[in-house]
Amino acid sequence: MSPEVKPDFLISTEGLRFDGRRPDELRPIEFKVGVLQQADGSAYIKQGKTFIMAAVYGPRELHPRHLTLNDRAFLRVVYRMATFSVPDRKRPAPSRREREISMVIANALKPVLFLEDYPKAVVDVFIQVIQADGGTRCAAINAASLALADAGVPMRSLVPSVAVGKADGTLVVDLGDEEDKYGQGDVPMAIIPTTDEVTLLQQDGSFTREELVEAMQMGVQACKYIHELQKEALRRAYASRAPAEEEDDDYEDDLETDLGEADLVGEDE
Ligand code: UDP
Repeated sequence: MSPEVKPDFLISTEGLRFDGRRPDELRPIEFKVGVLQQADGSAYIKQGKTFIMAAVYGPRELHPRHLTLNDRAFLRVVYRMATFSVPDRKRPAPSRREREISMVIANALKPVLFLEDYPKAVVDVFIQVIQADGGTRCAAINAASLALADAGVPMRSLVPSVAVGKADGTLVVDLGDEEDKYGQGDVPMAIIPTTDEVTLLQQDGSFTREELVEAMQMGVQACKYIHELQKEALRRAYASRAPAEEEDDDYEDDLETDLGEADLVGEDE
């Protein structure tokens, strides 16, 4: 559980972080795809103690109809934190923060989706934070893009996301809750790894111009690592669904096509 009091240090004299990580070290990340049977697509992410589930339904008919967009599908993202997701009970009513994060996540995902191919429809993305320990918006984007891919929603790319922040004057990747609360700022970001386009960039706290440039470089590098983990998770899900007799060249070809741009991790040449 997070401490109630401010820790004595965020960076030790050895240059390590509150939880023993190096400044450029991510928390352990576990992805699992296809975890909910009723959803069209789903995924969870465990990133350190942060645990988030994402479910996708659609493209499907949109209700209420007055939200209909004539030229594209409506990407409806709902980010919510469970009441038990933090030590202090989170009030169940949707908060302003949850509504804002829902919008931010939708904006981070829209650039990779072909929403114009599904006028008047809706793609529903439900994100439930089971346990929050910092970096939930970024972890949610990581899980949601996997859930969209699992649902078969056409995408240009997966969208990896991470926050880079500043703790005791040192730039650190993938903030934990203590660094988020007691650090000097954070920069959540998301990218399209194939083109290096940035689809989310926020800043909380103050950074010099040089720090911001370095933070973004660290973030891009971390996002590319997360992207590899996302692709591995998709490969595992596809492989576990493939009938044994399909373990042939055609199956490998199909897998590569389905993963689109993916340079398959660890693939034999
Ligand atoms: N948090 C909390 N109660 C809340 C909202 C957030 O304890 O009602 C904690 C939670 O651990 C979250 C962290 O504060 O991960 C940082 O929240 P922030 O708004 O910066 O978003 P995040 O970093 O999770 O994207």
